[in-house]
Amino acid sequence: MTRIIYVNGAWLPEPDAKVSVFDRGFLMADGIYEVTCVLDGKLIDYDGHARRLQRSARELGITVPLDEAGLLAVHREIVARNGVDQGMIYLQLTRGVADRDFAYPPADTPPTLVLFTQSRNVLENRAADEGIAVALLPDLRWGRRDIKTIQLLYPSMAKMEAKARGADDAWLVEDGHVTEGSAATAHIVTADGVLVTRDLSHALLPGITRASVLELAGQHGISVEERAFTPEEALSAREAFITSATNFVVPVVRIDDAKIGDGKPGTMTRDLRRYYIETRRAAAI
Ligand code: PLP
Repeated sequence: MTRIIYVNGAWLPEPDAKVSVFDRGFLMADGIYEVTCVLDGKLIDYDGHARRLQRSARELGITVPLDEAGLLAVHREIVARNGVDQGMIYLQLTRGVADRDFAYPPADTPPTLVLFTQSRNVLENRAADEGIAVALLPDLRWGRRDIKTIQLLYPSMAKMEAKARGADDAWLVEDGHVTEGSAATAHIVTADGVLVTRDLSHALLPGITRASVLELAGQHGISVEERAFTPEEALSAREAFITSATNFVVPVVRIDDAKIGDGKPGTMTRDLRRYYIETRRAAAI
C-alpha cells in the first residue's frame, strides 16, 4: 500500500511527497524530530512527545506551524489515512528552505513539517523476549543531546560499530559514565534492586518512555536513583535495560563480553515492560 505522507499541510501519496534540496534539514541537519508509537491505532504517551517537540523547537528557535489541537489532529489523521494498527509516526520539523548559509534565514521563513508512518508489530518483539547485547563505545556526539535533532550520523556510526562487534546496539560512554544508547535511554538495576538511570542534563535526551517508566517504578515501590553510572557498575548490574518509544522496555543481557545477571532478561525489567504496555495502552489517545 502506498503511504500517505503529510508535507506542510498537504496529504500526498509517497511518490509525490517531496521537499526542496535547499531545505535546511537536508543541507545543515537544521531540524528536529519526534517518534510516537501507535498501538491499537492510538497514540502512546502522546502528550510527552508533543511537549518535547515544543521544547526542542523552542531551544532552536524553530516555530511549530500547528497549534496543540492541530498537531494532535494531524497525528490522528495520518494513522487513520494509513490504517496503522501498530507502528510509529515519524515527525520532522526543519527551519525551512533557504539558500545555503550558516546564518539562519529570516524568522518568517516557513518551517518544513513532514510526518509519515511505519507499520510494524511493536508488541511481539524477539529482543523483548530474549534481550539484546550492547557494546560500550565513546560518546562523540555534540553537547546538546537534550534537543532531539535530526543530526544522527554519530548514533548511526555507533550502531554500525556495535553490530560489527557482534552486539545489537551501543551504549555510549563519556567522562567515565554511560550517557545513553544510540537511540534509547540506558538503565541498570543494582545488586540491591535499585533502578539507576542517568539524571537529565544536556548530555542526554529526556526520554518520554524513561519518564513513564520512572513513574511506574515509583508506583510499584521500586527505589530509583537518577544519577550517572559507570561502565563497571553496568557490567556488574543485576539487570540492565533500555527504553524508547517503539521498543518500550527491552532487556540488555550482555554488555561487551560480560553477561548481565544470569544472561536472561531480569524480573524487574519484565515487570516494567508489562506495566508500561498495560498502562500506556489503556491511556492511549
Ligand atoms: N535517547 C536517544 C538518543 C534517543 O534517540 C531516544 C529515542 O529515539 C531515546 C533516548 C528514547 O526516548 P523516547 O523514550 O522518548 O523514545
